[in-house]
Amino acid sequence: MIDASQPALNAFNTVTHEHALTRAAAIDAARAAGQRLGPLAGVPVGIKDNICTRGIRTTASSRMLDTYKPPYDATVVARLEAAGAVIVGKTNCDEFAMGSSNENSAYGPVRNPWSAAHAPGGSSGGSAAAVGAGCVSMALGSDTGGSIRQPASFCGVVGLKPTYGRVSRYGLLAFASSLDQIGPFTRTVEDAALTLAVIAGRDQADATSVPRPVESWVDALTGDVRGLRVGVPRRFTSEGVETTVADAFAAALEVLRSLGATLVDVELPHASYGVPVYYLVCTAEASSNLARYDGVKYGYRSPASAEGLKAMYTHSRSEGFGAEVKRRIMLGTYVLSHGYYDAYYLKALQVRTLVRRDYERAFEQVDVVAMPTSPIPPFGLGEKTDDPLQMYLADIFTVSANLAGLPALSVPCGMSPATGASPSLPIGLQLTGRAFDEATILRAADAYEKATSWHTLTAPVTVS
Ligand code: GLN
Repeated sequence: MIDASQPALNAFNTVTHEHALTRAAAIDAARAAGQRLGPLAGVPVGIKDNICTRGIRTTASSRMLDTYKPPYDATVVARLEAAGAVIVGKTNCDEFAMGSSNENSAYGPVRNPWSAAHAPGGSSGGSAAAVGAGCVSMALGSDTGGSIRQPASFCGVVGLKPTYGRVSRYGLLAFASSLDQIGPFTRTVEDAALTLAVIAGRDQADATSVPRPVESWVDALTGDVRGLRVGVPRRFTSEGVETTVADAFAAALEVLRSLGATLVDVELPHASYGVPVYYLVCTAEASSNLARYDGVKYGYRSPASAEGLKAMYTHSRSEGFGAEVKRRIMLGTYVLSHGYYDAYYLKALQVRTLVRRDYERAFEQVDVVAMPTSPIPPFGLGEKTDDPLQMYLADIFTVSANLAGLPALSVPCGMSPATGASPSLPIGLQLTGRAFDEATILRAADAYEKATSWHTLTAPVTVS
């Protein structure tokens, strides 16, 4: 199925045939021997290609790491395998998770399983497409500014970004360390809750992972949202949202209300600064994190290295990194440089605090905040590649949860009407919760899912 889907979707950078068969045989043997099996025993999963898998090529969709085989597993990978999951492949993504369309991959774009002409979203486009097309039951992604939620929305699946610190980042190739968080793509909210319980929890190897107990999030899915206060930032979500998305969002709120939730208007006065703040913070951190790829420690080394040390650095980085990664390293280096640090980076950190406080104030009145995941439905491949700013602006509703460190998920909530050449495409509802209150957003999303049928639609991917 995965091999057959590759020409149509290009969702995988590596398919781990042998590894998967060996693991599956081991699980069959354990079952036959009557051993206790883990909660994910035999479940086929995909892992975003910026998450380390021991002995399995991990490229971050960059030429820089084209042949890199990590000597260790990321903590999330070790935990999934301990629970019995079977890794069937590494999923395509934007290079070093930088992008919103999966078009920044050194291995070519992923295609949306609902329409080959449309982007699957990004940066975890391969994970979203693989789940959307039914190639795997679950796939991991990483979310720095929306890279789980936005592609989940574009591909009609569930995507969860946990609270910062809930899930270990050990073994995630760092993009922006204060924003990055790993989370699952699944077909249902229940599967997301189940996966979270497997990957969450304190990890000695990641000092930012928190020693909070791992909850039984599946048990939180009572289907009951009576009395739940749903905050709607109407001012923030009233501008720049395409009508089809606005309509689907309004209808989704109505469903929550009909289930007994109360809709409350809230203000997020600084959320509209989210995109500039995010792109200052993430590029600054990326410029530092990506300094390690220098042709010496790991990855690609240019043949021009014979010309001396400086030439080796310059050529290795110029040839190894793609255009978007270079753009961000340059921007990040600039905002951190003497003379600009105070004006840009420091200012961004200050506004980041204001964004976080907006949410704190909102959560004094409400239990969850609802927004569309993306202001626009899936766009065409190539439609936004010439204008990076336009692409960045579409991250408006997702970046603030990362800036504030809050848990947020996207659940399918509609389909855009087919127009002309464009078929009907998925739309997502985003729910954001208090820090470490994944239980409430999962409960609300599950109740919504049970009351609607969007998640039962299957993508018409044509597997040749
Ligand atoms: N689209 C955002 C970016 O390009 C988010 C990426 C992410 O979450 N990894 O940076």
